[in-house]
Amino acid sequence: MVARQLMPYENIKPEHYPAPVPQEASVRAWSFSAWKNYTECPQRFKYERINKLQPKQPVDRKALVRGEQYHKDAENYLKDRLHEVPPSFKLIPEKMQKLKTLDPICEEMWAFDRWWRPIPLNERGFTEDFADKDKIWVRMKLDAAVFSKENTLCVAIDFKTGDLKEDHPLQLELQALGVLCKYPTVNEVYSEAWYSDQRLVLQHDDNPFTRKDIDKLIMKWEQRVKAMFTDTRHAAKPGRYCTWCPYSRAKGGPCKF
Ligand code: SF4
Repeated sequence: MVARQLMPYENIKPEHYPAPVPQEASVRAWSFSAWKNYTECPQRFKYERINKLQPKQPVDRKALVRGEQYHKDAENYLKDRLHEVPPSFKLIPEKMQKLKTLDPICEEMWAFDRWWRPIPLNERGFTEDFADKDKIWVRMKLDAAVFSKENTLCVAIDFKTGDLKEDHPLQLELQALGVLCKYPTVNEVYSEAWYSDQRLVLQHDDNPFTRKDIDKLIMKWEQRVKAMFTDTRHAAKPGRYCTWCPYSRAKGGPCKF
């Protein structure tokens, strides 16, 4: 197993970044999926994540259940609880076999505080120290990563079912930032997504991300997520996502669209 370091990234100082944004009591931390949810429709975000409104009709959980099983399969194989490549990865068996030989870390939950310093979590994603619970600013989940012998280079991998989507490069960018903030010895991160149904690997255009990119990436994400915490209107944003929205009028929800 690669030796891992959990030291905070000491160069990050509060004065480098915008002042902490006001946080509503019920939105204290964010993740890529929360931000995506907000950008798709602020009103849906509010119903789901602030009001915690139960949809009137049962939500179709098939895709979610499949995704969970898919990641479980990958974890079981890479942690050697399964000896054969799982059927869900049957189109990329050689890549999975090679990855396993490189002793990857996999299915890890990560959290960072307001200054992007790592907060230790246990395997269930809870803070090891209860006092840290309210310090979490951003959460991330890492599917797999391998490190060079000296821990200076990392390849971080996001496993994907389905097709390449327009927001995936942003997710890979955040993944690279997470690695750089969590592992102070890593100088280069190659952030990629493996689409096992498509036999496709997406390499981020900016690979490799380096320590020089940290400030720029943090500033970008600070700006991107700011609206999530300062928005008081949570306006409806009708569009293609309404089709799947459990709060739509068609599904008996409170939204007029
Ligand atoms: S139906 Fe559309 S506009 Fe209304 S909350 Fe859902 S996504 Fe937003």
